[in-house]
Amino acid sequence: MLIYLESKAKSYPLTQQILSKFSNASVIEIDHYKNIFDKNIWNHKLANAIILAKQENISILPTPANYWYPGKAFFFKSVLNCIFDCEYCYLKWAFKTPFPSIFVNYQDIQNVISEKITSLRKSWYADTIYFYSSNYSDIQWLDEMINFNQSFIPFFEKFPNVLMESRTKSANMASLIREDWEGSIPQNTEISFSLNPQSIIDSFEHKTSSLDERINSINTLISKWFKVWIRFLPLLPVENYLQIYTDFISYIKEKVDFNKVNSIFIWSIIYTKSDYNNLLKRWNFAFEWKFQECSDWFMRIEDRITQDFKNLFTSSFPDKRILFDII
Ligand code: SF4
Repeated sequence: MLIYLESKAKSYPLTQQILSKFSNASVIEIDHYKNIFDKNIWNHKLANAIILAKQENISILPTPANYWYPGKAFFFKSVLNCIFDCEYCYLKWAFKTPFPSIFVNYQDIQNVISEKITSLRKSWYADTIYFYSSNYSDIQWLDEMINFNQSFIPFFEKFPNVLMESRTKSANMASLIREDWEGSIPQNTEISFSLNPQSIIDSFEHKTSSLDERINSINTLISKWFKVWIRFLPLLPVENYLQIYTDFISYIKEKVDFNKVNSIFIWSIIYTKSDYNNLLKRWNFAFEWKFQECSDWFMRIEDRITQDFKNLFTSSFPDKRILFDII
C-alpha cells in the first residue's frame, strides 16, 4: 500500500486517522495531488495507492435539469475515483489514474455547503434542497477508512428540509449500523443502492458487491432505521433484456419489502459524444448496444428500449411513484 500525502493535507485529523490505520504503508509526500492524479498511468502496472489531499476552491455544482428529484440540487465531492470497475463508468476515462484521491478537509467542504443552503434560504427558497455525494466515487465502500458517514450525516441533520444522498454498489454498511447516531434516526440522509441483475453485475460491474449482498444490506438498513432509495440503474440493453429484467424484478420483490423503501428511480444510460467515443476505445461492448444520438452532445439507448424499461417498471411497481431520469 502506498499513500501519496499532499503537504497541505498533513495536519488534518482525518489524515492522521488514515495514516494510523495503515501504519505499514509507504508514504510519499507530494506538493499537489494533481501531480499524481493527473498523470496518465492507467496502462501501467500499479501498486495499490491512495492520495490524501486538501480540496481547494471547493465547488458545489448544480445538477443538470431533471436530475432525479425536481428542485435545487447539487453535487459535492469528498473523494475522486472509485475502486470498483464498472465497464460503463465515465470515471474510468474522466480521471487519468485509478487511485482514490481523498479530500481530508471535510470542515471546509461543509462550510461551503452550509453557505449554499443559507444563501438559498435567504432568497426564500423553501423546498427541499438535495445534495448528491457519490457521483465521483463509491463512498460507502470506503467509509471504514474515510469516516464520511460519521462526519457528514450529523452535519446534514442540522438543516431542515435538506437531503443528502449517498449512492452505492457496495454492501459495506458497517459504519452505518455501528453508530447509534445519538439515539435518533437520521432524517436527512438516504442511502441509495444501485441494483442490476446478477448476470449484469458479473459481466459489467467488476469488484462490486453481489446482488444478494446488496439486498441483505438494504434489508438490514430498513430494519434498523435508515431511509433507503433503490435505484435500478443503469438499465442495460443486453440481449434478451426484457426477460432478464422481468426475472430480476420478480426476484427482488420477493426479497425486499418495497413498502418500506423510500423511493424508486430508474435510469438507463447516456453519454456525451466524447465520453461515448472514449468508451469505445476502452471496451467494445457498446457496439453491440443500440445507441442513438439524442442531440448534438449526447448518445443514449434507443427510444423503443427506453419505453420498454419504463413500461416494465411502472407495471411491476404500480403502487410506487417511480422517478425517471433523462432516458
Ligand atoms: S461503482 Fe459507480 S463510481 Fe464506481 S466504477 Fe461503478 S459506476 Fe463508477
